[in-house]
Amino acid sequence: MTTYRSFINGKWIESSSGKTIPNINPADTNDIIGEAQLCTREEAKSAIEAAYGAFKGWKRTPAPARGRILTRMARLMEDHKEELAQLLSHEEGKTIGEARGEVQRGTNVVEFCAGETRRLNGETIQSELPANFAYTIKEPHGVVGIITPWNFPIAIPVWKLAPALAAGNTVVFKPASNTPATAVRLVELFIEAGIPDGVLNLVIGSGSTVGDEIVSHPAVRAISFTGSTEIGLKMYADVAKRGIPFQAEMGGKNPVVVLEDCDLDLAVEHTAQGAFGSTGQRCTASSRAVVMEPIAEQFVEKIVARAKAFKLGPGLDPSSEIGPSVDEGQFNTVLKYMDIGKEDGATLLCGGKKAEGDGIENGYFVEPTVFDHVTPDMRIAREEIFGPVLSVLRVKSFEEAMQVANDTEYGLSSSIFSNDYNSITRFIDEIESGMTHVNSPTTGGEAHIPFGGIKATGVGPREQGSTALDFYTELKVVYVDYTGRKREGNLY
Ligand code: NAP
Repeated sequence: MTTYRSFINGKWIESSSGKTIPNINPADTNDIIGEAQLCTREEAKSAIEAAYGAFKGWKRTPAPARGRILTRMARLMEDHKEELAQLLSHEEGKTIGEARGEVQRGTNVVEFCAGETRRLNGETIQSELPANFAYTIKEPHGVVGIITPWNFPIAIPVWKLAPALAAGNTVVFKPASNTPATAVRLVELFIEAGIPDGVLNLVIGSGSTVGDEIVSHPAVRAISFTGSTEIGLKMYADVAKRGIPFQAEMGGKNPVVVLEDCDLDLAVEHTAQGAFGSTGQRCTASSRAVVMEPIAEQFVEKIVARAKAFKLGPGLDPSSEIGPSVDEGQFNTVLKYMDIGKEDGATLLCGGKKAEGDGIENGYFVEPTVFDHVTPDMRIAREEIFGPVLSVLRVKSFEEAMQVANDTEYGLSSSIFSNDYNSITRFIDEIESGMTHVNSPTTGGEAHIPFGGIKATGVGPREQGSTALDFYTELKVVYVDYTGRKREGNLY
């Protein structure tokens, strides 16, 4: 059986904790893929110390030379695309098509960040004083802690690692405990790409021990986190006490607004893809359909038919369209919310239970679920479920649609289906989300386009795109006086 170890100061270590956790295939719980050794707090400390020790050398390495390592990493990810996708699908459960898409997105981000190392530019600034000028330099923070979730265990780590390393930071990377295999494989590829010892350290272990050590250790000078709002906001409070930069991308409850003049078949297809694709385990998943009353009956009829048509199955089976929930905890959470929806009085139109069938008996499969007549106060309309569950909220006017769509603590993504320019433009003006889509699903993103949310979803600068390196750099301002004389007049 494969054992997943942590990588500290250029070495794969044997943890002294004696604790391991099994890496279970969520599509078939009899299939144990491997086991991960869990690090101790002391081992996490040594990873931070290694990153601290490697920082000066990495900072001094010219940015384009750092970029060349990232370019090699992008090539390696491309060369290993199929292998990475298979591993991802096996470990996390998403379909092989979704896994290939994730690896490609990760590769694109690495490639983009490699290019950014050639324009890590500051600016020169004219002075009010003669023979004076100022300029700015972008500098790395030092050791950066990177803490990631399980739902995109390749794309999210690389969209933090690549900009952090490009900017000259050294890294301690803690992946989610239930996706260690993809994390180990990524680090192996970084090693092959030429990352120097100590610059990138991987610590596998629980959030409450190694995660907490990363968050509280004084040598860690910035933290980038993606995960639940509950953990992220608690971490934000802890990090604030140390006064260091913090970036978090957290939960979502993304609305799709469906207006009467839309192409209904397009709206149904994209809402279904957004709600049920990746088993609803995307932060950008469409979880609320806000539909105008006159077309609601037709909308629910069509979306129920679409939900029932999806083929559930192991992600590695190319005919599967929806994989399992990632683990027992997530599976039970989704089932619990299905019960909550029924108890709260929503109308269950399809799904609402564990999925049965040949080839999925031993996996964490749930049926794609649609609830109708959901009201904004119901828990299924307010709380992130992270499963293939869509709530339909019927509304009578555009104003009510906007009120309902914005009635959430979250603000990650949204979309509108309409062919009326004025309605679309008003929606873009009024929707409270960091990203919004017109006549397309709430999901998706591109490497060169900023990604992130507002409200209780996002803290700090956006990831990816033109903003990718903002979080990972400090600005130093330099004043230069080349008069060679004592300054006269009013000084300020
Ligand atoms: P999670 O439970 O919050 O865990 C995220 C990471 O934090 C894991 O590595 C976890 O480690 C670690 N962690 C847990 N407790 C910690 C602590 N006290 N100190 C330090 N680290 C700690 O989230 P998840 O279940 O993995 O991921 C699903 C969530 O991520 C959803 O809410 C989803 O919306 C969100 N997400 C958001 C985005 C976005 O861009 N907005 C993207 C993807 C996912 P362990 O695994 O060891 O517990």
